[in-house]
Amino acid sequence: MAQVELKNVSKIYDDNVTAVRDVSLRVIDKEFLVLVGPSGCGKSTALRMIAGLEEISRGTITIDDRIVNDVAPKDRDIAMVFQNYALYPHMTVRENMAFGLKLRKYDSSEITRRVDEAAAVLGIKEYLDRKPKALSGGQRQRVALGRAIVRQPKVFLFDEPLSNLDANLRVQMRTEITRLHQKLQTTMIYVTHDQVEAMSMGDRIVVMKDGLVQQVDSPLDIYHHPVNRFVAGFIGSPTMNFFTGSITRNGSPAFREAGTSFTLPLRTDTPFGENREVILGIRPEHVSMKEQQGRPRRKVFVDVVEPVGNEVFAYFSTGSGRQFVARLSSDDLPSVQEECEFVFDPSRFHFFDATSGETLRG
Ligand code: ADP
Repeated sequence: MAQVELKNVSKIYDDNVTAVRDVSLRVIDKEFLVLVGPSGCGKSTALRMIAGLEEISRGTITIDDRIVNDVAPKDRDIAMVFQNYALYPHMTVRENMAFGLKLRKYDSSEITRRVDEAAAVLGIKEYLDRKPKALSGGQRQRVALGRAIVRQPKVFLFDEPLSNLDANLRVQMRTEITRLHQKLQTTMIYVTHDQVEAMSMGDRIVVMKDGLVQQVDSPLDIYHHPVNRFVAGFIGSPTMNFFTGSITRNGSPAFREAGTSFTLPLRTDTPFGENREVILGIRPEHVSMKEQQGRPRRKVFVDVVEPVGNEVFAYFSTGSGRQFVARLSSDDLPSVQEECEFVFDPSRFHFFDATSGETLRG
């Protein structure tokens, strides 16, 4: 059992850079928690403070019931997997995996047992006598995982472990790590800048920006109920379409984009008052080319069509030159420069305050 808790944790580096601001977070036992956000948002610093590799400027970090602020990394019962593998080049795979256990004076038969078991789980048994330079990137990352597994730590920490792998291998290793989590049933905290990785792996996701936690939720709750414009735009690919404008109410409510003639009718129960300045957010999959009774339609021009196999991303522009993107079935493939009618689904619109970016709920 291992629960990790951050209470009002901040990190201020020597040059007065505040990398993490007052973060409070509880990672539940056996949970796979992903910290995600753009480069520089403070996610690695947060992870490194949990690992004990960075001092905590303010607040406390607890692993189970023990405050670990002043506990050395090696005494925190955690294992960390890094982006660059951090293997010892002069040691074989077996020696690399055994190293941490040898330092801790484990019995040699126990070391052999654990290394063999981890090598079998990770499919690297036949490489145990090779040196890291004779392995591919994916195999090296498996060795790094193996070195963490043999320790049987309370908590695994991952710092962008898949960033150096090519796209196919990244997807494959993603599934392997998820499978490993299910098998080991150990608390895991995983840092990535890749929102697809976060969505597909996390039990819960923590979205960070500028050192601040923006939202902590399950992947689908984050996707469907983002708390603000930043989260809405960061999670989802292609990104959500945003239009800045105001609500008009000449009879039934409508959205009108600022400075253009682009308008979209809204549901009659839209709760916002006349002239309210809002940002309207529409996910690309909530725009379609199929006729649907009673849904607002708009004529637009198709600029770019990107077929990605089972679906198509179509980038189109309104008469005023405003561009946005739709995610369509490949049966609906539009032609470039064609004038199309797109249908919007007002029941899936998101509204954000134009100033604060906070989500507006009815
Ligand atoms: P992320 O992992 O989200 O990319 P980091 O935690 O690495 O972000 O960095 C957060 C902020 O702290 C950035 O502005 C970065 O430049 C700064 N930072 C990171 N490490 C140091 C350091 N050792 N000294 C000073 N500033 C740092």
